Amino acid sequence: MKMIILGSGSGFAIGDRFNTSIALLTGTDCYMFDCGEPAGALLFRNGIDPLSVRGIFVSHMHLDHIGGLGSVLFSMYLPGRSKNKKFKPWSITRYDDWYRKNLWFPDQVIEETERRELSLYIPEEGIEAITAYLQAGYLVPAVLPFDLKIRPVQIGEFYRNTNLCLTSVPNKHLENNAAYAVLSEAYPQAKRQSYSFKIEAEGNSVVFSGDIDNLEELTPLMEGVKTVIVEVAHHEPEKIKPYFDRFAVERVILTHIHPGLEERLFGLLESWGDTRFKAAHDGLQIDF
Ligand SMILES: [Zn+2]
Repeated sequence: MKMIILGSGSGFAIGDRFNTSIALLTGTDCYMFDCGEPAGALLFRNGIDPLSVRGIFVSHMHLDHIGGLGSVLFSMYLPGRSKNKKFKPWSITRYDDWYRKNLWFPDQVIEETERRELSLYIPEEGIEAITAYLQAGYLVPAVLPFDLKIRPVQIGEFYRNTNLCLTSVPNKHLENNAAYAVLSEAYPQAKRQSYSFKIEAEGNSVVFSGDIDNLEELTPLMEGVKTVIVEVAHHEPEKIKPYFDRFAVERVILTHIHPGLEERLFGLLESWGDTRFKAAHDGLQIDF
């Protein structure tokens, strides 16, 4: 299996660091963890066929983590109508030429497979609004060429199939956000749901932090984990190495990198001199 950091930027995207999204490629399937902008375009840029996306898992409703959802779904909707859904095991190649030749020519259809399900897991507080947003863009169930199932992320194990098991813990990224002191009056129904994920696939265990308030929030997920993808925009990066030194991790990928933090972060990595720690960049491939 392989993971690709599609977007390694913070909420403030810059030219070479886009918002958070991560792809996991296993078997014939792609799973996405967060879906910030421009996730739809970044699938193509990284040679990932959007028709192979089987699940999208969103840590919290901040738009730098879900803003690309519309383009991902639209990239699945349009070629899906060609009914050409022949899948093959993953290799990273660019699909642009394939789409240019095949997308709009029904006489080139090779085979039509059954409707596949796309699982979209988001915080429960966002389901109604996202459903309405998709409807406003005419992505309603009767039109979609796949079965879109929108479900809430649950605490604990919340997703399992033969290839993948996902567990979540809640974190206080939204609850402790000082900017949101006004929310209790202005948006009292906000539940401030935010999660970190443990991803188990092909015998590998990976923790993806989502956005957190404190590294300790990851501790319940860390058992047996060798690879961590951790955001660095909402806590002190100086504490990253001491924290992960407590566990038997083999690599820690630092992501969600704010442009104003790059210099400090690269300086820290140099001072640590520990090859287990690595800064992400857009397009970084993590091999297992
Ligand atoms: Zn956030």
